[in-house]
Amino acid sequence: METLLGIAAGVILGLSVSAWIFKRRGDIALEHLRQARRERDQARTEQSRASEQWNAISQSITEGILILDAQRQIVVLNAAAESLFNLRDASGRIFDQRAWSAQLQPLINEILTRRAESLSQTIVKDARAFQVLARACPLGETTGALIVLTEITELQRLGRVRRDFVANISHELRTPVTSLQILTDTLANELGDASPAQVWLGKLRSQVDVLHQLTDELMDLALIESGQMPIKLVEMPVAELVTQVVELFRPQIERQALALEIATPADQHVLADPAGARRVLGNLLHNAIKFTPAHGRIAIRARQTGDVIEIQVQDTGIGIPSSALPRIFERFYKVDHARVQRETRGTGLGLAIAKHIVEAHGGKIWAESIEGKGSIFYFTLPVAN
Ligand code: ADP
Repeated sequence: METLLGIAAGVILGLSVSAWIFKRRGDIALEHLRQARRERDQARTEQSRASEQWNAISQSITEGILILDAQRQIVVLNAAAESLFNLRDASGRIFDQRAWSAQLQPLINEILTRRAESLSQTIVKDARAFQVLARACPLGETTGALIVLTEITELQRLGRVRRDFVANISHELRTPVTSLQILTDTLANELGDASPAQVWLGKLRSQVDVLHQLTDELMDLALIESGQMPIKLVEMPVAELVTQVVELFRPQIERQALALEIATPADQHVLADPAGARRVLGNLLHNAIKFTPAHGRIAIRARQTGDVIEIQVQDTGIGIPSSALPRIFERFYKVDHARVQRETRGTGLGLAIAKHIVEAHGGKIWAESIEGKGSIFYFTLPVAN
């Protein structure tokens, strides 16, 4: 009897423990389920908040945004792009780039065929100018194309207004400045060499010369920037280009007792506008002379790298502080060299003009420098085959 009772109690105890374990597991599973639901709801809320935010941003910005998948189906099209491309509810439709501008086609092709990661181009459509940026963007397992269109018609108009203003002002200043030069020279002749006023007239003449150079360079810059300065490409030997420029500056080089090294292989030819190329090299050499103290060294070297000829002008002059180096090609930028006399300072336009000319040839211009040790200026021109 006692044994039976013991067995029964054991069975009851076992059953209650199992029921408790069962319930406990059930509670835990339920809690996991609730937690999973809470996380899912939270993720949905965050997702819909992010999507609302994206909609608010993409619909209110003035840039047109378009995302295409690998099959050119429209995935995203914001309000600005809808009105630009004249498309309504186009999501899922195939985008026909030719309907807007055939110029878009190569950009999209390059991105979707993965030949380029990012491309930018200016497209003119119905007298409006757009800066188009096309970029590869991941879409799940595949890659799509993100296209951003920014209208730059007004920006281009303002650029034209600025260039015209500068060109007009410098044109108007030319005549009075030339008259001032003639009047100063006439006065100097009239007064004779013995006159004590010659010192002041000399200073006046050098200030008028600076004004003359400034007006000339401003006009040139305006012409180059507006694409009105003709670039006529001819095949020319690099050695000849270098000799022509060096001869112009020979008196200054000798006056400062500078050592000049020239290393230009005889068989190298560039495809360049002779006047433009001489102006670029002339500006770099003139700067090298201006900013190198007497008995310093200047080297002009040329070498072919790929399909360009790289020409470098190295000096052992005062150098350029690293903080100023990124700005020296900006118009009017001049480093405030404490050791350079006021008279040797120029207009700050020479390198800006040189940059425009080099870029009009499809080349690049850049500089390396160590303050107190010297500088190397480089530029490239296409090699003539
Ligand atoms: P600038 O007419 O003043 O020479 P640039 O545009 O030719 O104008 O040059 C801009 C500035 O860059 C110069 O004022 C000078 O401060 C600096 N610079 C250019 N070339 C050199 C050089 N070889 N050595 C030191 N500084 C230079």
